[in-house]
Amino acid sequence: MSQLNEAAIREVVSQVLAQLQSKGSTFAMPSIQNRPGKHGVFDDPDQAVAAARSGFEQLQKKGWAARTKIVEIVRNMCVDQAERWGDIEFNETKIGRQAHKPLKLQGVKNVLGPEYLVPQGMSGDFGITMDEAAPWGVIVGVTPLTHSVPTIAGNVINMVAAGNSVVFNPHPGGAAVAALAIHEINEAIKAATGITNLICTIEKPTLDSFNALCTHPDVNLLCITGGPGVVDAAMKTGKRAICAGPGNPPVVVDDCNALDFDRVARDIITGGGFDNNLLCIGEKQIFAVDAAYQKTLAALKRQGAVILTAAQLEMIKREVFDFKNGVGCGSAVLNRKWVGANPDALAKIAGLNIDSKVEMLIAETGVDDPFVQEEQMMPLLPIVRTNGFDQALRFAKQSEHGDKHSAMIHTMNVARMTQMGQAMDTTIFVKNGPCVAGLGMGGEGFISYSIATTTGEGITTPRTFTRYRRCTLVNNLNLF
Ligand code: NAD
Repeated sequence: MSQLNEAAIREVVSQVLAQLQSKGSTFAMPSIQNRPGKHGVFDDPDQAVAAARSGFEQLQKKGWAARTKIVEIVRNMCVDQAERWGDIEFNETKIGRQAHKPLKLQGVKNVLGPEYLVPQGMSGDFGITMDEAAPWGVIVGVTPLTHSVPTIAGNVINMVAAGNSVVFNPHPGGAAVAALAIHEINEAIKAATGITNLICTIEKPTLDSFNALCTHPDVNLLCITGGPGVVDAAMKTGKRAICAGPGNPPVVVDDCNALDFDRVARDIITGGGFDNNLLCIGEKQIFAVDAAYQKTLAALKRQGAVILTAAQLEMIKREVFDFKNGVGCGSAVLNRKWVGANPDALAKIAGLNIDSKVEMLIAETGVDDPFVQEEQMMPLLPIVRTNGFDQALRFAKQSEHGDKHSAMIHTMNVARMTQMGQAMDTTIFVKNGPCVAGLGMGGEGFISYSIATTTGEGITTPRTFTRYRRCTLVNNLNLF
């Protein structure tokens, strides 16, 4: 028989006690068995949900003080562990830019916590009423390969601030770092509050575990962050789902003498080049109006981007897309091997040797090019010359495919800002800055890595994960 140390025995006892204390659930709970020595990490979806239910009930008993403490713990850990978790995530997922991984984790400190939940009170002739933001209970979170731990940490802050627990079914390609961070977060939560299994994850997530979690009778809400396939699948389960879906954000550069084109180029490289274009909000295609086209190209070059020739673009295109019916027939399928690749690796496909520090490749294309039309998530931005502002706006709108995600414009013409903002109808619209300004990095506002575009809740906050409940007292306690 293997030796059990004191810590392991304590862990088993505390889990059994947590189960015995839990009550109120309508689902018959199986006994909870974590992966040995791993807090909140499970093989089996039923066990993960049962554990998260127990975590939710423990949190309910500990109240607002525990929520506030846990949010503080997660924010601090994302800063303290930014380099370590960032490196581990990069080594596991093998996409994006290693130097940017810690920045995404450090950004988690600006995710909104319990301070954002303000109850609304009403007082009048008939007494008083309170509308309160109550938790849902157990939430299932599905997270993308592009930002595994940042999305998890941001979701945890929003969801726990609102009083919920969560079970994650992370992308299989980022599941190991997810399990590691969740284990460490749970350890810290337990040390500070005594609460166990508030944040759970499936160690080896699959489509089966996704289905089991999303249809589980004891799961109250889904939060899905990913592409079109997973959003469709989640919405078909019939459970209430908050869906942070795909995008293909355009940036329009207006023909405007008052613009500083070097600043425009820097903004496009900052946003579109961040983590090798893995951000869902990242600039994905440029539409430059009339004379702004040459000015933007020249400025992009001055700011360090490498401009590809038509022949080089063609070679890269044939490698990073699969074409069912030949190039140019609108049948491009993204070869995911190249998502988040470094510019120098993409350039090498075309036999071009460039410095690994280059942040962005630029290619002159037509509007129908797959680099314009597909959400390709590579630091290779197509630039399209347009005949007037109205055409730029039409192209931008078409290329966004109705995702209602993000769009950017550079102009000093307020009427054109307004025209584009109204026409695009996107969740995020940034004027005269990089896309990240829309998430509070260089612009006003807060951040979340789950931008609920498809279902319309917007950049998620604790309020997104609450249900509003009313409490009315008739004819009393009103003071005048
Ligand atoms: P993805 O859609 O391949 O995967 C996302 C998650 O869904 C993963 O956990 C994956 O395992 C799961 N999944 C995928 N297809 C599924 C299916 N049919 N059934 C069940 N689960 C499924 O996306 P990705 O490559 O990891 O991430 C990039 C995508 O996510 C892009 O489309 C990007 O725009 C989007 N995204 C959106 C936001 C947002 O806030 N709106 C944030 C980040 C990423």
